[in-house]
Amino acid sequence: MSFLSIQHIYKKYDKDNHALVDFSLEVEKGEIWSIVGESGSGKSTLLRIVAGLEIQDEGRVYINNHKILNPGEKLVPGYEEIQLIHQQHNLYPHSTVAENIGRPLLLFDKAYKEERVQLLLDLLNLTAHRDKLPRELSGGQQQKVAIGRALSIEPEVLLLDEPFSSLDNIQKRALIRELKLIFQELNVTVLLVTHDIDDAMTMTDKLCIIKSGEIVQMGSAQEVYEAPKDYYVAKLLTELNSLPYRQHEYIRPVDLVLHNAAGCIKGRIINSQYLIDHNLLTVAVDGASAYWTVEDRSRAFNQGGTVWLSWAADKVLQLPSGTAE
Ligand code: ADP
Ligand code: MG
Repeated sequence: MSFLSIQHIYKKYDKDNHALVDFSLEVEKGEIWSIVGESGSGKSTLLRIVAGLEIQDEGRVYINNHKILNPGEKLVPGYEEIQLIHQQHNLYPHSTVAENIGRPLLLFDKAYKEERVQLLLDLLNLTAHRDKLPRELSGGQQQKVAIGRALSIEPEVLLLDEPFSSLDNIQKRALIRELKLIFQELNVTVLLVTHDIDDAMTMTDKLCIIKSGEIVQMGSAQEVYEAPKDYYVAKLLTELNSLPYRQHEYIRPVDLVLHNAAGCIKGRIINSQYLIDHNLLTVAVDGASAYWTVEDRSRAFNQGGTVWLSWAADKVLQLPSGTAE
C-alpha cells in the first residue's frame, strides 16, 4: 500500500447525484498530484473525504497504513496530520503574519515554536512581513500565510482545494512555482485540486483527470497531452477545432499551418485578436459546423480576409465521446 492510499471511494449526496464513483489513487510519500476536473466533478468532496471531514458511502482512505476515520466514526472530525486549504484562507485579521503561522503551535514548546515559525517565514519568503497584518499583504502573500499556518504542525498530507482561484495570473504562476519547491523541501505529500490544467501542470507532472466523480485518465502531463483519452480531457488542455465531414476528429490551434495561397482548407477570418504571442483568429472554415480558433504567429492575416489551413496527418486527434461538446 502506498503512503496515501485512496481505495474505491463512492459518494452520492442524493439518489441520482454521484459525486464520486469508485475513485482510487495511490500516492507515495512526498509526491505532488493534481486532480483536475470541471466544476461539480467531485474534487472538493474527494478532499473532504480524504481529510476525514465527510462520510463516504463506500471505500477507505489510509495514510501511512492508518485508516482515516470519517465523522461517523470519530468524535472530533478531521486530523491535524491532514491539512485542507481553500481559496478563502480565513486568516486571523488582527494577528500578525508570524502569529497566524504559529497559531496551531500554541501548546508547543516555545523554542520549537519560534524555530518552526522562522523556518516557514524564511521558506515562504515572508520574513520581511512577519509583523504585518493580513490586510497589509497581497492576495498571494495571504495565501502563503495560510499555507504556512497549515505547514506549521508538520502535517503528513496537504490538501489544496482550488487555492489559487482568487489570484491574478502573474501572482499565481510565481506562487505555484515557489510552493512546489517548498513542498519538495519539506517532503510533504500534496493533492492539489483545480479546474485549471495550467495551474496543475505548473505544480506537478502527475495528473489525475476526473469527470462526474470518475477518473478519466491518469498520467504525466506529456502522456495526457499526447494521447488524451477523450474529448473532455483534450478540451481541458487546449481549444479544439472540429474537422468538417469527420466524426470525432479534431485539430488543435497550435497544429495548424496558415497559408495565403489556395490549397488545403479555406476559411474566412471573422475576427483577429491581438495577444502577446500571436493574433488569435476566429475563422469560418468551409464545411465546419463551428468557428475555428487559429493562432496567427506571423500576424500576417487580417479580419475579413481569407486564410488557407493545413496540418500534418499525425496531428489529428481521434476523440471518442465527442458528444460531450
Ligand atoms: P467540485 O469541487 O469538483 O466542484 P463537488 O465535490 O463540490 O465538486 O461536488 C460534486 C457534486 O456533488 C456536485 O454535483 C455537487 O452539486 C454535489 N454536492 C457537493 N456537495 C454537496 C452537498 N453538501 N449536498 C448535496 N450535493 C452536494
Ligand atoms: Mg470544489
